[in-house]
Amino acid sequence: MKKYNFNAGPSILPNVALEAAAKAIIDFDGTGLSLLSISHRTKEFEGVLEEAKSLFKELLNIPDNYSIYFVGGGASTQFFHIPANFLKTKAGYVNTGVWSKKAIKEAKYYGEVEIIASSEDRNFTYIPKGFDIPSDIDYLYICSNNTIYGTEYKTDLDSPVPLIADMSSDILSRPVDVSKYAMIYGGAQKNLAPAGVTFVIIRNDMLERVVRPLPTMVNVNTHVANNSMFNTPCSMPRSTATASSAAPSRRRTAR
Ligand SMILES: *Cc1c(COP(=O)(O)O)cnc(C)c1O
Repeated sequence: MKKYNFNAGPSILPNVALEAAAKAIIDFDGTGLSLLSISHRTKEFEGVLEEAKSLFKELLNIPDNYSIYFVGGGASTQFFHIPANFLKTKAGYVNTGVWSKKAIKEAKYYGEVEIIASSEDRNFTYIPKGFDIPSDIDYLYICSNNTIYGTEYKTDLDSPVPLIADMSSDILSRPVDVSKYAMIYGGAQKNLAPAGVTFVIIRNDMLERVVRPLPTMVNVNTHVANNSMFNTPCSMPRSTATASSAAPSRRRTAR
């Protein structure tokens, strides 16, 4: 019998995906190189990235005015990246459980946090409904699925201010009207993939709304402008093309 991991993550991957990955780790697409050792500057790796983005776009119906990027640091890093980029004076947060609380804690380093609604009074057993969203907040932040308590927004909110959602544990489990969100993000390991990468779907006008000068890695623009490759996205530092002018040991590995 096939075993199943019912924990909140890492997600169970279908055998076809595991088998394809195992094969690619030995020899990716007949390149003679492992997917783990191939340069991110090759067209083969570009194909991997573009396919991941285009499948995401197709499955979630992501409109053309959005960018998609993948970055390290887990969803937890986004807890502070979001307010660093977008909290100028005050942001609104809906408190629906442990993951919202963690996001609220980080946001307070950057400015005022208004709790727009909360379900803490009944131990986070429900999603607050019918709350008013003020128009003087920089953004409204929600966690769409409350991983630990098991409550979930079943519909997409209409918000007069940019709506930002942590969808770590329900992404691709229901159709989402992406156009209602300014940014959707999550750790890939709950619903999509192995651990180690965070996805960000961001409406392009948000890239111009960054409210303060920021270290390069924190600024959302870095990851969009560098097409998810400001960090090296896999382990081989040089392509086969440039390896001939590099250290001989590298050259041997590359060939
Ligand atoms: C697991 C989880 C996180 C934390 O994810 P990391 O990638 O491990 O930082 C954040 N938000 C939600 C909703 C989660 O379920």
